Amino acid sequence: MNAILGAALNQIKDTSTILGEDYPDKKKFKEAIDAILIPQRVVKGKISIKRENGKRMTFLAFRIQHNDARGPFKGGIRFHQNVSEDEVQALAILMSLKCAVAGIPYGGAKGGVVVDPSKLTKSELKDLSTEYAKFIAPYIGPWKDVPAPDVNTDGQIMSWMLEVYEKKIGMQAPATFTGKPLELGGSLGRTEATGQGGVCVLAAYINSKKLKVASSTVAVQGFGNVGYYFAKIAKELGFRVVAVSDSSSGIYDPKGLDIDTLGKYKEKGGSFRDYPLKSGAKLITNAELLELPVTVLVPAALENSITKENMEDISAKVVFEMANGPTTSEADTYLHEKGIDVIPDILSNSGGVTVSYFEWVQNLSGYYWTKERVNEELKKTITKAFTDIDKIVKEKRISYRRAANYLSIKRIIDAMITRGRV
Ligand code: NAD
Repeated sequence: MNAILGAALNQIKDTSTILGEDYPDKKKFKEAIDAILIPQRVVKGKISIKRENGKRMTFLAFRIQHNDARGPFKGGIRFHQNVSEDEVQALAILMSLKCAVAGIPYGGAKGGVVVDPSKLTKSELKDLSTEYAKFIAPYIGPWKDVPAPDVNTDGQIMSWMLEVYEKKIGMQAPATFTGKPLELGGSLGRTEATGQGGVCVLAAYINSKKLKVASSTVAVQGFGNVGYYFAKIAKELGFRVVAVSDSSSGIYDPKGLDIDTLGKYKEKGGSFRDYPLKSGAKLITNAELLELPVTVLVPAALENSITKENMEDISAKVVFEMANGPTTSEADTYLHEKGIDVIPDILSNSGGVTVSYFEWVQNLSGYYWTKERVNEELKKTITKAFTDIDKIVKEKRISYRRAANYLSIKRIIDAMITRGRV
């Protein structure tokens, strides 16, 4: 079993020790936990395309549907050479937890193809997307399973897949995929949703801790879709963003950075390593960024950036996980014991899936919202998710991660019991 699946299963087992007290019927509770440890369906097989050089190429493909007690399955499709069944299963479990934490009516799923898409031409990528859509078509649909983009897949790929699916069923069904371009029923506000939602959670956290926005400093590791919008929106709300980084370098200015200018620089393809610094600002390494004495440290790049090796050097008051899985479980325990809150990814980056849910709602009703409405509903939904978890943290005196796991697994088990599945 790979480490990420082991960690996902351990989170469920660990949570069951505190959750068990809520269920007097121990047999039923054990049955429910056992059911959550195993996905409901694993679709696994080979798909093939004819390459432009005339040779056939075969790929291993997966769609894993974890648990649909709370609603149709939902989860991204990843095209990557390191995709494995264990990884897809772990990510499907995490989607179930994320949707339950956010309070949106979906179960978790994930899909993947073992492929390095950078080695394919655009037309081969289209063929691969088409073959994958045919492969999963029997298992997806607006009320069955709703895929979305993930690593190396995007709105264009969702559009090709939607076309295959709609041809197969003989009617329009835009709610089968989310993350679509606006022309095919995508939602306004999706591009910035993850960063936007994260800042709403951060504002609620700062408020709950009775801290002040204006005196809170923020350092963001990663300046892609998530990191850029998080930094930009946090600054607009009054936070002082003192450091950001890309894979080449970090930029630090204790007086605060001009995020819009940095965004424009990155848009033109520049590396922070070569950025023309203003006086007061300096280049730092990614390792140094993680050690800055800021109020809020935001890992928004990769998994496993805070580990046993650097956990003792973290000096932030709170670690705010915008990337998926940026803190290893060892570092998570250490930070909690040291009194540093870690706001878990399944809560802080759930803005993306929440706006995907709004896209599905808009597709089903055929009525499209303004960006203002999307942002307003996002704020309402994600702030409630934080408030529910914050209450559990205070009542049970447990970490935000354990509280988020507790709440999400409880919601899934309650739905399973209500349906009579256990
Ligand atoms: P992205 O590819 O747009 O950006 C990644 C950023 O990280 C880039 O700025 C890159 O330079 C930087 N980076 C790469 N390697 C690095 C390194 N070694 N050190 C420091 N920085 C490095 O990706 P994204 O969409 O912003 O996603 C970032 C994270 O957020 C991922 O973990 C992703 O799974 C997670 N996430 C994304 C979304 C979403 O809606 N995009 C939703 C939920 C979670």
